Amino acid sequence: MSFIDNIMQKVNGSAKVACKKCSHEDTLSNLEQHDYICPECGTYFRLDARARIKYITDRNSFKELDKGLVSKDFLEFPNYQDKLEKARHDTGEDDAVVCGTAFIADNECAVFVMNSKFIMASMGSVVGEKITRLFEYATEHQLPVVGFTASGGARMQEGVISLMQMAKVSGAVKNHSNAGLLYITVLTDPTTGGVTASFAMQGDIILAEPKALIGFAGRRVVEQTTKSKLPDNFQKAGFLLEHGFVDAIVPRPELRDTIAELLTIHKRSV
Ligand SMILES: [Zn+2]
Repeated sequence: MSFIDNIMQKVNGSAKVACKKCSHEDTLSNLEQHDYICPECGTYFRLDARARIKYITDRNSFKELDKGLVSKDFLEFPNYQDKLEKARHDTGEDDAVVCGTAFIADNECAVFVMNSKFIMASMGSVVGEKITRLFEYATEHQLPVVGFTASGGARMQEGVISLMQMAKVSGAVKNHSNAGLLYITVLTDPTTGGVTASFAMQGDIILAEPKALIGFAGRRVVEQTTKSKLPDNFQKAGFLLEHGFVDAIVPRPELRDTIAELLTIHKRSV
């Protein structure tokens, strides 16, 4: 049940969960049948990395890479160690991204999935290192990369080390691109900060889930800086599509088939 998020809550004394937006109560298995979308109001529940991998990849095809990398508390930042330990305990993961290889409708690819349940999928040294290694692996093995982004941005507890990950991952993305290989990103709710400013937006094809929040700085900061009133849908997937930052918004039930089709179209003949 680790994928339950802030818009879905457990109903006390029941096996059901409730949508926080419309209070609809449902079982997890029924929600799975509905692609983890509220059958009443259409709210998209956030998926953690394992649920997303299960949902998108061919059954039992996922092979994890670089499991076990853990962040160091470089700066001895107050409470960071406790926060890391709590996140590891709550999610069962070592850090905020899961990487590996898999098949999607028989198309072999490298996959990374960020996990918003782990310190809001903030990007620290481990996230950057794992994604970099995945691109290096994909380049070496001539594989396309499919990445699911979700992040609150750089991990402030790791200071400049977290900011350096943007350049490091971007270098690996570029080498992968120079090898003529495909990179598809799927922006999920929320994708913000340094992740948006680097590898989330470097995909050859950029997809987004409906209504996902996608941005760099927060809405309030932009309003204060620009001294302007922003539209209601500012930083929502639809707004980004209108302004050319996203290639397509794909409803979750169509996502797997869409990715499979893109991988098939771009398959390299060997
Ligand atoms: Zn609902």
